[in-house]
Amino acid sequence: MTIQRLRSRLLRTSLLLRFGLASALLVIGLGLALGWELNSTVEDRALAQSELMVAGIGQLAVQPLLVREDFESGTVSPGSLERLEPAVADLIADETVSRIKVFDGGGTVIYSDDPSIIGDRQESGDGLTSALDGQVSSELQEAGEADGAAEVSAGALLEVYVPVRIDDDVVGVFELYLPYGPVAADAHRDVAELFTWLAGGLLVLWLGLLQIMSAASRRLRRHALDNERLAQRDTLTGLPNRAWFTTLARQAVHSAERDGGGVAVLLLDIDRFREVNDTLGHHIGDQLLVEVGARVRQHIRDVDTVARVGGDEFAVLLPDVVGTEEALEVADRLHTFLRAPFLVDGVGLEIGASIGIACFPEHGGDATRLLQCADVAMYTAEYAHRAMAYDPALDVNTPSRLALYGELRRGIDENQLTVHYQPQVDVGTGRVVGAEALVRWNHPIHGLVQPDDFIPLAEQTGLIRPMTVEVLRTALRDCRSWHAAGHALTVAVNLSVRSLLDEGLVNEVAGLLHESGLPASALELEITETTAMVDPVRSLVVLAELHALGVRLALDDYGTGHSSLSYLNQLPVDTLKIDRSFVTAMDTSDNAATIVRSTIDLAGNLGLSVVAEGVETGESWLRLAELGCDSAQGYWLARPEPAAGLLMLIDRLERRLRAGRRDLPVPA
Ligand code: C2E
Ligand code: MG
Ligand code: MG
Repeated sequence: MTIQRLRSRLLRTSLLLRFGLASALLVIGLGLALGWELNSTVEDRALAQSELMVAGIGQLAVQPLLVREDFESGTVSPGSLERLEPAVADLIADETVSRIKVFDGGGTVIYSDDPSIIGDRQESGDGLTSALDGQVSSELQEAGEADGAAEVSAGALLEVYVPVRIDDDVVGVFELYLPYGPVAADAHRDVAELFTWLAGGLLVLWLGLLQIMSAASRRLRRHALDNERLAQRDTLTGLPNRAWFTTLARQAVHSAERDGGGVAVLLLDIDRFREVNDTLGHHIGDQLLVEVGARVRQHIRDVDTVARVGGDEFAVLLPDVVGTEEALEVADRLHTFLRAPFLVDGVGLEIGASIGIACFPEHGGDATRLLQCADVAMYTAEYAHRAMAYDPALDVNTPSRLALYGELRRGIDENQLTVHYQPQVDVGTGRVVGAEALVRWNHPIHGLVQPDDFIPLAEQTGLIRPMTVEVLRTALRDCRSWHAAGHALTVAVNLSVRSLLDEGLVNEVAGLLHESGLPASALELEITETTAMVDPVRSLVVLAELHALGVRLALDDYGTGHSSLSYLNQLPVDTLKIDRSFVTAMDTSDNAATIVRSTIDLAGNLGLSVVAEGVETGESWLRLAELGCDSAQGYWLARPEPAAGLLMLIDRLERRLRAGRRDLPVPA
C-alpha cells in the first residue's frame, strides 16, 4: 500500500472517529435532557396521582363520618368519634395512610389518631391555607422531616391537605400523611425502565448514523480516488500523464536521496509522428500512440513507469538505475524496439524515436530539472539518431551555454570562424580533385574549437544560418583562388538540418555563387541521410532546387542512417560519401569491408560517384583502389588544413602518391 493511500485511509478513519465522537456527545446530551424531562414528568405524575388518591380517601372514606357540627363546635361529637376511630384505625393498619389530622375552619386540630395533639392550633402554613381556600395541596417531606410522623414511617411522607366541604362550604381540613417510599420506588422503576429504552434507542440511532456516515465516506473516498486516477491518467493511452509522472519522479528522487541510489528519466519523442497524423489521419495517429505506449511498457521492468507527457512525447522513469551507462543501455534497447514496424489498422508504420536521458544525481537534483535535462538531451538525440544522455555543453539554458552562445555570436560577427580544407583525392589517378570545407572557431581564449563542440549550439539557437553563409562565402572565395591558381577543385560544404530547411537557402547559395563567379558545379553541398529524413518531403524540394542551380549534392556519412533505398533513389544526389566508421574498420572487419564494397557497387549502379571518408592507412587506400572507389579523403592522405597552406599541401600529397609511396605513415 502506498504511503499516500495509507494516509488517506488514516484521514478517513480519523474523520469517522471525529464524527463518531461528536455525534456521541450530541446523542448523550439529548439522552440526558430527555431523561431529565422524563424523570420529572414521571415524578410529578406520581405525586399528582398520590395527591388525588389521598384526597379521595379523605373525601370518600373520612368525610362522611363527620357532620357540620363537629367542625362548628370545635369538638368531634361522641357519635362521630364512634364512626371515625375504627375507620381511621383500619386505614392506618393497612398503611394506606400513616397519620390523620382533622382541622376546624380556624386551624385547630379537632381530631387526630394521635390524641395528644387534639386541641392544638396549627400556625396556618401554605398547605393549610390553600386547603381552607378549597384547594387540595401537598408537600413532600423527606424521612424524619414530618412533624411527629417520623417514628411512624421510616420513608418519605406525602402530606396532603384536603378541604372538607359540607353543602359546598369549606368547614375544615383533613391532613393525611401518605407513606411515599413505595410510590417513589415505583416511579423510579418506571423511570429506570424508560431510561433503558431511551438509551437503547439512542444507541441504535447513533450506530445507524455511524453506519450511514461510514458508508457515505467510503463512497466519497471512492469517488475521490476515481477522480484522482482520472486526473493522473492520459485519456487516450491510459498511461500516467505529465503531472503524475512528475510526482512519481519526485518520489523516486527522494528515495534515491535517502538510500543513495540513482534514478534515470528518459524522454522519448516519436520521429515523423506529424507525417503519420497528416497523411493517415488522427485515428491512425491515436492508435499508433497507444501502440507505442504499450510497446515501451512491454520492454521495461515492472518498477519502471512509462507516461505520456505530451502529443507524441513519452517519458520513462527508471528508479534504481545507477549511472548514465545503464540508462543508455535501456534507452538504446527501447530505440531498437521502436524501430520495428507498427501494424496499425492493417498499415505497417515504421517510425523511430529520439530519446533523451537525464540521471539523478549526475544531471539534476530534482524531478523538474531531470525532465528539463532529458528534454535538452532529446533535442540533441533528434540529430544524433540514437539515444543521448544529457550533456551540459549542449544545454542552451545553462549559464555556460548562454555565455557560449554570446561568444559564438560575437565570434561570427568578428570573423573568428575559419575554414580548414581536407583534400579529396581521385583514387585512380592520385590527383586531388576537391576539398571539403570544415569550419573551425578560432576562440580568443580557448584556441581552435572543433565543429562538434559548437555546431549543435549554433543549430539550436539559429546561429547556424549566419555561420553557414559565412562558411559558404569563405569556401567559394578560397575555391576561386585555387581556380585562379590553375587547380580546378570542387569545394564541399556541409549543411545541417536547419540550413537545409531554411527557406532562404537556395537564393542564398545562388547569390553567393554568382558573387564568386565560379561555375555552380564547383560547389558540392553535403547533407547526411538523417538530415534529409527530418523532413523528407521538404528536403526533396530544396535539393531539387539546388540541383537545378547546377550545384553538386553529396550524401554524407552514408550508411549510418536508416533511410530507405527507395527514398535515397529519389534524392538528386551526385555523390555518396561512405561513413568513415566503415572505412577505418575495413582493415579489420569483414562486415565493414562488405559494406564499403557494396556501397561502391550500389553507387556505381545508381550512376553516383563515391567518396570514402576516413582513410587512415595505406592498406585502406590500396583496398579502395581495388574496389574501384572514385575518391577518398582521410588523415593518411591529408588532415584538414587552413586555406593558406592548402595548395602546397596538395602539391606534396600528389607527389607522394605519384611516387607510389603508399606505405608512408600518417602525416602528423
Ligand atoms: P563530416 O562532414 O563527416 O566531416 C569529416 C570529419 O571527419 C571531419 O571532422 C574531419 O576532420 C574528420 N576526418 C577526416 N579524415 C579523418 C580520418 O582519417 N579519421 C578520422 N577519425 N576523422 C577524419 P571535423 O572537422 O571535426 O567535423 C566534424 C563534423 O562537423 C563534420 O563531419 C560535419 O558534419 C560537421 N561540420 C564541419 N564543418 C561544418 C560546417 O561548416 N557546417 C556544418 N553544418 N557542419 C560542419
Ligand atoms: Mg562532410
Ligand atoms: Mg562525414
